Amino acid sequence: MTVDWLRQMVGLAQPMFGVINDTASSSTLYALAAAREAQSDLRIRELGMAGRPELPRLRFYASTEAHSSVEKAGIVLGVGKDGLRRIPVDERFRMDPVALRQAIHEDVAAGIRPFAVVATAGTTSTTSVDPVPAIAALCEQHGLWLHVDAAYGGAAAIAPELRWVLDGADRADSIVINPHKWLFTPIDCSVLWTRRPDVLRGAFSIVPEYLTTTDGSEQDAPNLMDYGTSLGRRMRALKLWMVIRYFGTDGLAQRIREHCEYASMLARWVDGERDFELLAPAPLSVVCLRAHPPGLDDPGTLDTLNQRVVERINTGGRFFVSHTKLHGVYAIRVAFGNLRQDQRHARGVIAALRGAIDDVG
Ligand SMILES: *Cc1c(COP(=O)(O)O)cnc(C)c1O
Repeated sequence: MTVDWLRQMVGLAQPMFGVINDTASSSTLYALAAAREAQSDLRIRELGMAGRPELPRLRFYASTEAHSSVEKAGIVLGVGKDGLRRIPVDERFRMDPVALRQAIHEDVAAGIRPFAVVATAGTTSTTSVDPVPAIAALCEQHGLWLHVDAAYGGAAAIAPELRWVLDGADRADSIVINPHKWLFTPIDCSVLWTRRPDVLRGAFSIVPEYLTTTDGSEQDAPNLMDYGTSLGRRMRALKLWMVIRYFGTDGLAQRIREHCEYASMLARWVDGERDFELLAPAPLSVVCLRAHPPGLDDPGTLDTLNQRVVERINTGGRFFVSHTKLHGVYAIRVAFGNLRQDQRHARGVIAALRGAIDDVG
């Protein structure tokens, strides 16, 4: 019931099977296991992948900005790091669907079997949103499993004006949203929905005698051990139920909206500052920026300067900012997402950035 509330709150129109896992890393691994299972003629569940010269190489696709958990899933599933082809992004860090189409064609021509695409709605570094409708069309055309990684960004869709972050996601075979990211739910709580629960179950279900039950059919009460690697599990739904009941849809939307406003406020300030610059658009609650005083253009020097700004701010203890690299450039990454953040923190982090560059610059 709780995962279905969340589905409705983020505007996914069709009822879907949902299950709570510990993390998005697990949810994505399970989704990709289902994607591999969907290539049923390969009989990988029965025969494995080793020592089978007749087995084609398998490949799946995600952008260069996709999360490391996607690559890790490929390693665990036996397709290797090489089984993931990274697709380039545009200047706003979104997957280029033309490059994706070309990659699929090249691979098919080379005798490789494509099986899935992971689109990201809210990338970790910059919160960019891949063009899911265009990617979905390619997946439908080529019979590929589409998994949407909306671990962080999906929560934004609770606010009607941000619902666009999940455009096209109802065409996906699976989608993950983490309430423990931006929905104020204590870690761990990751929701995986799929339109093809039969395939997910086909990948994982195995019922020895001591786990058989007589009370009710799969229809009445799906047995969650059949949808992933865990047999035992905690009741993670309770804390999410509590959050939804306490804040309500509007209350959650309002807090998400405020976080995005703080990010916009910071981005506007950076834009107007001589000594700072934005390094990516800030569509949600994360701002990527760096100090770039006029006349200081050596890349190495700028990276070092910005590392020192981050250290300076973080050792202050009032703020914790993280960092990333964008096109090889060191970027300071400021994320809003805490329940207790308000305008004062947004103004405070601006003052801290200003102060840090005066100190280390
Ligand atoms: C945080 C994040 C993940 C990993 O989430 P875990 O729940 O810690 O495994 C995956 N993808 C994206 C886009 C994320 O932001």
